[in-house]
Amino acid sequence: MLHLRRVAQRNVPYAGRQLRQTSLKVGSWHSRGLATESGPYDVVVIGGGPGGYVAAIKAAQLGLKTACVEKRGTLGGTCLNVGCIPSKAMLNNSHLYHQAQHDFKRRGIEVGEVKLNLEAMLEAKNNAVTGLTKGIETLFKQNKVDYIKGAASFVSPMRLSVDLLEGGQTEVEAQNFIIATGSEVAPFPGGAIQIDEQQIVSSTGALELSKVPEKMVVIGGGIIGLEMGSVWSRLGAEVTVVEFLGAIGGAGIDEEVSKSFQRLLAKQGLKFKLNTKVTGAEKKDGKVYLQAEAAKGGKEETLEADVVLVAVGRRPYVEGLNLQAAGVELDNKGRIIIDDQFTTSVKNIRCIGDVTFGPMLAHKAEEEGIAAVEYIKEGHGHVNYNAIPSVVYTHPEVAWVGKTEQELKAEGVKYNIGKFSFMANSRAKTNLDTDGFVKFLTEKETDKILGVHIIGPNAGEMIAEGVLAMEYGASAEDIARTTHAHPTLSEAFKEAAMAAFSKPIHM
Ligand SMILES: Cc1cc2nc3c(=O)[nH]c(=O)nc-3n(C[C@H](O)[C@H](O)[C@H](O)COP(=O)(O)OP(=O)(O)OC[C@H]3O[C@@H](n4cnc5c(N)ncnc54)[C@H](O)[C@@H]3O)c2cc1C
Repeated sequence: MLHLRRVAQRNVPYAGRQLRQTSLKVGSWHSRGLATESGPYDVVVIGGGPGGYVAAIKAAQLGLKTACVEKRGTLGGTCLNVGCIPSKAMLNNSHLYHQAQHDFKRRGIEVGEVKLNLEAMLEAKNNAVTGLTKGIETLFKQNKVDYIKGAASFVSPMRLSVDLLEGGQTEVEAQNFIIATGSEVAPFPGGAIQIDEQQIVSSTGALELSKVPEKMVVIGGGIIGLEMGSVWSRLGAEVTVVEFLGAIGGAGIDEEVSKSFQRLLAKQGLKFKLNTKVTGAEKKDGKVYLQAEAAKGGKEETLEADVVLVAVGRRPYVEGLNLQAAGVELDNKGRIIIDDQFTTSVKNIRCIGDVTFGPMLAHKAEEEGIAAVEYIKEGHGHVNYNAIPSVVYTHPEVAWVGKTEQELKAEGVKYNIGKFSFMANSRAKTNLDTDGFVKFLTEKETDKILGVHIIGPNAGEMIAEGVLAMEYGASAEDIARTTHAHPTLSEAFKEAAMAAFSKPIHM
């Protein structure tokens, strides 16, 4: 039986139902390396983002006959196309531009006039995206994952219909499906502000602005808002971040780190309006006028902007999947419900990544992709939700893993704190980059590490050590007794562990 069938625009009976298509182009299957005969796929993954493409590669590596359906036209999902990768390209290059303008001189580097070529900066970002998305196609070929370009929709729990990007339709049968359809930009609550991706943009539009706005207002002081706000501030925009809550950094950030973070970003020129609610927007004479008021109600004001970035979060994406046909259930937040083995309400359909529970992070989706496949093939998998790091790629970077101090307090856990400032770290001093600190939170009785919070240079790289330590159930003493190379920023990490367990040497 052919399990993957492409057809043109004609009604023909197929497996007891009417399809719009016919005309098998077997030659083109072969030329594109798609499977033809020999029964259904073992696994079909819907969505080629970091969750989906990693799951597909892992499934193929475990010997499962695998396909991945992706409708975007490129692999890598939100992360590679309009998320992690393009934002980090802009963060890195805008940081260098900012340094050349404001920081080189004190390092003894005299440069002539520093000019921004925004077009070239955007092109560098686009090249990074293209290189990486194409790289995944190569990985698919190397691992023999069939890449089906099109939008998938369930016909039954064992069968998908795919609207192919190049026209026509395909049916795909599989023993197992993994839904990895990710998330989309959450609209402004109540529809009071409409995103046009020109003047009022989402993160996607904020990665494409063709000129630096004079004034930018960012609605939402979470990770995406702060990263994109930093980019445009460094490139010359006057940026104001409006946040409903009383602190920046979003869910999971330690309050002490958040305060320090806000102070450092303010030093760089970002303005903050906390405890403030945006209620509406009006476009007039090329400007956007935002109405805002105190979060508790009361004092009203109007904020003028050339560009407004709406960064109020993301929501699970299931549009067009026809989940009812398969019987897959959602919760009241639109997330696909799964058990601890990633199984949905239908036993052969699993689900991972942004479209289900947990933090919307690429590495979380990847881990789940691997674990879901291992459950299918081997009956066991592993994701440690207590050890998933978060990183804000501003300067300084902010990174954390595990519990915050406010969470430990709320849970009534007795804890020790170990802190070490980059001011006292020889490498940070040598690099003239001393803002921030490392903070350990450990269980009072056992010294077990419960959380690590870093604000400082290279925090995003350094947090890996904290994640590893927590994965292995390490104590602060374990870290304190581990040799760290000198002179490195990581010595601040070790010294913070020493501070939690006993005393630091250099402070
Ligand atoms: C600006 C920005 C910056 C970010 N930065 C970071 C970061 O630095 N680090 C980090 O960890 N995370 C970051 N994220 C979050 C990260 O992008 C997501 O957590 C991650 O992409 C989720 O992966 P996923 O595989 O679950 O879904 P996605 O990456 O959203 O991929 C889902 C894919 O499924 C496809 N799809 C949907 N429906 C169908 C269908 N019916 N048929 C076929 N295909 C379908 C979509 O086209 C999409 O390509 C960022 C996000 C944004 C927006």
